[in-house]
Amino acid sequence: MAGKIKVPRCTSCGKESEFGYCYECLCRCEIITRDKQQVSGDFTIVDWFTSRASAGLIVEDTQSGVRYQLYMSDVFAYLDGLKLADLTLEETKKGSAYGWKVITEEAVISQ
Ligand SMILES: [Zn+2]
Repeated sequence: MAGKIKVPRCTSCGKESEFGYCYECLCRCEIITRDKQQVSGDFTIVDWFTSRASAGLIVEDTQSGVRYQLYMSDVFAYLDGLKLADLTLEETKKGSAYGWKVITEEAVISQ
């Protein structure tokens, strides 16, 4: 049982809109409570997003082509403890920020 979620839904056409406004009917949505949906399948990471409040990955269902936004905090919770085997990291700077990046096989200096 996944529980309930509150979502904005158009009072005219019945479509849900994350913005709380239906751009087809040009009206404000009402907030309804319904069962949470779940989707299962194979997903490919295709993009990322960032907003004032959050950031995350956009994954695409390889069968339906539907895209879903995964919040980074949930992505981290899912990936926590995952082993990244046989990678080579190289130091990098983004402006004044210092960190590491994954480098491709061709760029690895053989020792
Ligand atoms: Zn509508």
